[in-house]
Parts: sequence; C-alpha cells; structure tokens
Amino acid sequence: MINPLRGMKDLTFDDSQRFVHIVTTAIKVAKRYGYGYIETPILEETALFKRSVGESSDIVGKEMYQFEDKGGNDVCMRPEGTAGVVRAFVHAKLDRQPLKQKFYYYGPMFRYERPQKGRLREFHQFGCESFGEGSVYEDFTIITMISQIFKELGIGFDLQINSLGCPECMPPYKQNLVNFLTNIKEELCEDCNRRIGTNPIRVLDCKNKTCQSLLTNSPKLINNLCEACDSDFKKLTTLLDQAELSYTIDTNLVRGLDYYSKTAFEFVSDEIGAQSAIAGGGRYDKLVEFLDGKPTPAVGFAIGIERIMELVQMPKVQREGIYLGAMLEEAVEALFPVATLKRLEQKVTVEYNSKGFKSHMKGADKVHAKYCVLIGEDELKDGTIWVKDLETKKESTIPRGEF
Ligand SMILES: [Zn+2]
Ligand SMILES: [Zn+2]
Repeated sequence: MINPLRGMKDLTFDDSQRFVHIVTTAIKVAKRYGYGYIETPILEETALFKRSVGESSDIVGKEMYQFEDKGGNDVCMRPEGTAGVVRAFVHAKLDRQPLKQKFYYYGPMFRYERPQKGRLREFHQFGCESFGEGSVYEDFTIITMISQIFKELGIGFDLQINSLGCPECMPPYKQNLVNFLTNIKEELCEDCNRRIGTNPIRVLDCKNKTCQSLLTNSPKLINNLCEACDSDFKKLTTLLDQAELSYTIDTNLVRGLDYYSKTAFEFVSDEIGAQSAIAGGGRYDKLVEFLDGKPTPAVGFAIGIERIMELVQMPKVQREGIYLGAMLEEAVEALFPVATLKRLEQKVTVEYNSKGFKSHMKGADKVHAKYCVLIGEDELKDGTIWVKDLETKKESTIPRGEF
C-alpha cells in the first residue's frame, strides 16, 4: 500500500464535505463583495517568492518546495497565494487599466515544515486580493467580508489589527527599534539577534517568552505614525466601532516586509488549542511595483482552510432529491428514463437491484432522499409510478409520464 507523503492528507467523505462547504460559502460572500475568480499556477519561478515573500522569511529560507525542473529552471511550489496573483495581475497588464480589480482564489499551498496538528505540508487557502483602491474604506470592507464569511460558517473569532505605517513613517521607526534592540541584544534569543540585522520588525512577533517580555517597553509604531497613516488607522477603528465589530490593537502584529503598509490584521481563534490565526491579511501598496508593475495600491487576505475545518458548523443534512427503485427485476430498466429526466433538475439515486418495499424505504433514508419512488408489478403494467414524500409522508400513484 502506498501512503500519502508526510504532512499531506487525503480529504475523504466528511472532510471533503466540510472543505466544499467552506469554499462555497466563502465564494458566495466574495461574489457579493464584487470579487471574481482567478486561477494561477501552483508551480512558479523561485525568484517570484524570493522577491515577494522575502529571502529573510522562514517560508523562503527554510520551507520552500524548491527544485530544478527537467529544463534546468529553478522552480517552486507556491507557499502562499498573493505572489502568484500579483504576478498574474502584472503579467496581464491589468495595472495599466483604470478599473479596480478584485480577485478571489483557493487551492493548495506547500511548505516543507515539521507537520503538526493544524499544520500540513500541503494545506489550502481561500484568499482575496483587491487592486487599485487606496482608501481605508477598502480595508474596512475586506475585514467586514471576512467576518461575514466566518459568521456564515458559524465560527467565532477575535480580530486583531495594527498599522505598519508607510515609507514615510516606517524607516525612522525601524531605526528607533534597532537602537532599542541593540541595547538589549544579549538577552534576546538567537533568532532575534539575527533579525536585528536582517528584518528588525520581525523581532516584534518572536514567540520566545523572554523576548516578548523584553519588548514590553519597545517603541511602538502606532505611536509614531505619520499624519496620513494615523488618520487612516483612526478611521478604520471608527468604522469598526460603528459596525460593532470588536477588535484589539496588537502592536506586535507585523509582517516584516517592505511592501506591506498601513493596515495589518489577523483573525484568531482559541478553539483550536492555543490562540492561532485562522485568517490574516492587510495592505500591500508596494508589492505590485516590487513585481515590476505600475504603482497600484492593494489589500488582501487569506483564510487557512485546514485551520477552520473543525470549527465549521455544518448545516443540518436536508432531505433532497429522489430515490428510485424497482420491486421486480423486469421493472429496473423502466427506472432509467425517469432518472434521466429528473436528473435535469435534482439529485436522483437509482437502485439497480430489485428489492422488497422495506429495503427500498431503508435505502431512500440512507441517501436522505425527499421522495421514495418505486415501480412494482401493478405500476409496471399500468405505466404508473408510486411516490412517497418522506417529509409529509403523503403517498400517491401517478402516470409515469406525469411524474
Ligand atoms: Zn505613514
Ligand atoms: Zn526572540
């Protein structure tokens, strides 16, 4: 027997139903917010992720499924969705159109990390990217949309927000932070010491407890925002207040890449053990430029589908469709014209073996059919069909052509 690879998983009946329910719910909501589907390749040039996700990140540094293909190209299975969507956006020259563009996507992502609960090497994300809208109203709208998706999936969450500033206020803050960190260097963990040189902002979200306690008194960007960033952040919190969407401001919520700016947010849940992110996103006004497009403001997010798999409240199974059965061998083939016709509009299950009444009723129940429809000896002779509505319990015998 061949097993799936470590950290990879089949989605079988119960899980696959949850998966479909999550994706269809998210798509339904995204469409109401004006998003259209985009599909991009799973395999991309490694350079794309080095440039967009950043070489100093763990994802690119340690976790990429990177290899040389038969043509000698350095390629990589996508570790996240945004980079490919932005590349496609630039490739299709959509950055030269005045239209605002909104895309949703879903599919598998790959990271070679140590598999653990809720963390697979192949996992799935649903995400949205909105291009061309620089107003903080769009940040608010996207946050509203994610909460709506979670609401419709029956998932509770806490919303955490932060501002990452802009090219005007971020660099002086970064310098401030480096000065602060250099003074406490000896006490910080090894990773953080490395980050001071490569990506000091990432020190803020170090998971090490000692580091976290040392950072209590670190300078906070939120108190050092330029006027434009400050006013946008205040507007965002006002809008969230007005919408009665509760949130906490987490000054350690960072992304640590230069193209991220202003709004950053995370939806977290404590229903899956320790508080963990079930969705995250924010504004990335510089990324399109970074990938050789015309400057285009953009904001987006991704939901981790496996993270919410167990949190989803599945809708109660409703009876639907028709169960078709024959009581005698000669009647089986008379079922097919009925099935073909009815399948134009609803779910039909055909039992190929002739059986007794009771065992057909059981069969109809098993597939949650709304109608149990049978052809017996009399019905076969008379050209009729016997129909029972399993909800109302009403029974009738009607001409087959009228069913
Ligand atoms: Zn700013
Ligand atoms: Zn640390």
